[in-house]
Amino acid sequence: VKQHGRNGFHFFTQELQERVMNKIVLEEQLHSGVLQSQLQQYYQPVINASNFNVCGAEVLLRWNHPTRGILTPDSFLDAVEELGFLSEIDTTSRRLACNQLAEWHLTKLVDKNFVLAINASEQLLNEESFLTTIKSDLDNAGLFGSSLSIEVTEGVLVSNFDKTAAILNKLKDIGLTVAIDDFGTGYSSMAYLKWLPASTLKVDRSFVQNVPESAADCRVLKAIITLAKSLDMSVIVEGVETIEQAYLCREYGADMFQGYLFSRALSPENFADFITKHNPN
Ligand code: C2E
Ligand code: CA
Ligand code: CA
Ligand code: CA
Repeated sequence: VKQHGRNGFHFFTQELQERVMNKIVLEEQLHSGVLQSQLQQYYQPVINASNFNVCGAEVLLRWNHPTRGILTPDSFLDAVEELGFLSEIDTTSRRLACNQLAEWHLTKLVDKNFVLAINASEQLLNEESFLTTIKSDLDNAGLFGSSLSIEVTEGVLVSNFDKTAAILNKLKDIGLTVAIDDFGTGYSSMAYLKWLPASTLKVDRSFVQNVPESAADCRVLKAIITLAKSLDMSVIVEGVETIEQAYLCREYGADMFQGYLFSRALSPENFADFITKHNPN
């Protein structure tokens, strides 16, 4: 029955079947720890807007797949989260990143003001042991709390504001920075900003991608940065891809940039190369 091909329904079931298969394979790999061993921490430079030096990095997960190469999180993170492995992976990832930073301190690649940004999922924030493991990671690596910034999305806050706010305030108590990630893409209104227990705002890439061509987008971007600055927040603009965007964001008052204009996320070795070439000593 050679009827498959043009039949949309057939395509749909085939695709669905593939997705289910992939998830089963993924689950097996997670349970056996195979996948965990293939995950790597990559580092995207965060740039100081006033002197364009590297002042930090965001830790971004990459899957070094044996046959498919380096994969970005959109191809596997949702499934990892659904299967309940995200907090385990984030916990390991944070420990490794703390050790990496300690090594960079030792080799004087970065100074004590360098900030490592780490993504925290809702699952992770709600783990009983979240705070104590952060503290022991810092202690074991010999780092101060001020070396870490924890990024949470608005969505995580909105879903259980009081509980999440309490956890974030505890992070602030031990010196960590709390940053709101992807700001503007969630459900919270601008007025809500003053209630957020965060000192840093990461403006989502969607607000900068049509700048400077779209005059309306320029005004919205300017309004967001101005409002955050008036609340004494530090502002990082994500997804800066052109020099025009960088200058404009700086003019609007942004403190830091992150984006392909400067660099994509890099392996530790390439990150070390990048910072050596980029920062004056
Ligand atoms: P995010 O936290 O918003 O991270 C920024 C994403 O934007 C990264 O994608 C980064 O590579 C990308 N990006 C940075 N600059 C530019 C640019 O100039 N142009 C464009 N088009 N993109 C840019 P990535 O690495 O694919 O990560 C996607 C998302 O996956 C992250 O979004 C974050 O939500 C999540 N994620 C990544 N690593 C981890 C992790 O270790 N744990 C958790 N829980 N989530 C992670
Ligand atoms: Ca982030
Ligand atoms: Ca983001
Ligand atoms: Ca994102």
